[in-house]
This record gives sequence, C-alpha cells and structure tokens, in this order.
Amino acid sequence: MSDYQTDRMDGYYRIGCADGAFCYLVVGTERAALIDTGYGLGDLKSAVEEITRLPLVILNTHGHCDHVGGNAQFDALCYLHPKDLELALRHTTPQMRRADAERLAHNVDFRTGETFSALPEDFDLDRYVSMGAGRLTEAREGMRFELGGTTLELIETPGHTAGGISVYEPERQLLFVGDAANPFVWLFLPESTGKESYLRMLDKIDALPVRSYLGGHNPNPMDHADLARFRQAALEADYQTGTPFEAFLEQDRKPRICALKSAGGMFSPDFAAVVISEDW
Ligand SMILES: [Zn+2]
Ligand SMILES: [Zn+2]
Repeated sequence: MSDYQTDRMDGYYRIGCADGAFCYLVVGTERAALIDTGYGLGDLKSAVEEITRLPLVILNTHGHCDHVGGNAQFDALCYLHPKDLELALRHTTPQMRRADAERLAHNVDFRTGETFSALPEDFDLDRYVSMGAGRLTEAREGMRFELGGTTLELIETPGHTAGGISVYEPERQLLFVGDAANPFVWLFLPESTGKESYLRMLDKIDALPVRSYLGGHNPNPMDHADLARFRQAALEADYQTGTPFEAFLEQDRKPRICALKSAGGMFSPDFAAVVISEDW
C-alpha cells in the first residue's frame, strides 16, 4: 500500500499523507511539476511515478520541513526562493528531522484529540535524518515553467515566511499557495514578515483571476470569499485578547490565536484565524 493518498482533481493531482501535508502535481505533455514534497516520511517518489514518468521539476512554496522534506527523494531540481534557503537548510538538518519524526510518531488528530503514528510501517529513521534538502536552486517572481499544454508561473507571496512562493496556473485559474493563505495561518515565526506585508500579499493574490486557491494543509479549495475572511481576521486581530497557542516551534514567541469574531468555532467552515506574536 502506498504511504500517500492520491486524488485526481480538476487539472491537478492532490497527494496527501498521514502527517497532514499536501503536495500537488500538475502534469503537462512534456514535463510535470511537483508543488511541495511534504515531510517526505514515505515513498513520495513512487507515488508520483504511479501518476507520471515524465521529467519532473519541483517547486517549493517555502522552506519549512513539511514542504521541502521529500525533495531529496528526487533527482529533479527544487526551486526555492533565496529568502527561504537558510530556513530550508535548517529544517532539513538531522536534528530537525529527528525531532519531526519523533513528534509525528505521536501525531495528534486535532479534531478527535486521538494520537496516532504518521510514520509509514517501514520507516527508516537513520536514512530519513540524513536525507538533506535536495537539489535546491533559485526561484524568482515571474519565473515560468512550460510543461507542455500548460504553463506555471511563480508569484512571491511573503507573510508566513519571507521567501513564500505561490504557483499560478492561468489556464484553469489555480493558485497553489502553500501556507501563505489558509484558515489558521502561522504569522508568529521569526521568518514571518508582519501584518502589512501579509495584507499586501492577500490583496495581490486576490487580484488574480483565480477560481481555486489550494493550500498545503487544507484539502478544500479556497476562493475569494475565503481570502476576504482571512483579511478581516488579520485586521481585527488583537494579541491581548488572543488564545495562547502551543506550537511545536518557537514557543518562546508566545504565539496567540486571534480568530475572526463573526465566524463559528475552529471546525466551522467560516473559521479564520491568524496566529501571531506580540510584535507581529
Ligand atoms: Zn509553513
Ligand atoms: Zn506547512
């Protein structure tokens, strides 16, 4: 059985893993593009090869461990924004990978509160911790990737991280955003770029003709109405009244969850929150 669940969507494939991160695959007639590689706990390469054997290019939306972790399984070049390079290297060190694997062996399903292991049965820790970051190369605003029959374009989307990149597919009006825009966006990290830059980024992607915004941890496509709620959540956010958040990273920044007041609770479809530090 594959370590990944692959779903054929309208114009792309969604590849999910028990660790909760999604990768996306766009297949042209000559090449294919893999957008993010998750933690890379399982055999992602085989999951991709079951869909296509075309030459591959990897586009990393940002440098976090749950987006670049599987890069090294592939011979393909991995495009990452230079502002996230240091971050990606830090997130793929043996120490970081070991900590990730230990945490994900006792992963908590935040809906049920139950603990489960997100590690595949044949998981090889020694191999995993020494994988590295893959063949990283520089991504820039406006870079285009002709796949044959479809073209992808890179768009800088800072906020969650300084080197955030989204991947635009104009033909079907898709934008793969990674963690840049989502209902529970982490903006408290040292690599996050602050409120003004986050709001500018939301305006930038909202202005594009996009039908579906596809996120790194959200199985449901998002739309312009979702972006409007994310924007409102950021405008309303007041650190003083936020709820403390126990993040597995940067806990010393004392992140707090500031949720959109008009929305329902955490699991309601109109939920939106920013997770911020006091100085965001
Ligand atoms: Zn991230
Ligand atoms: Zn992520």
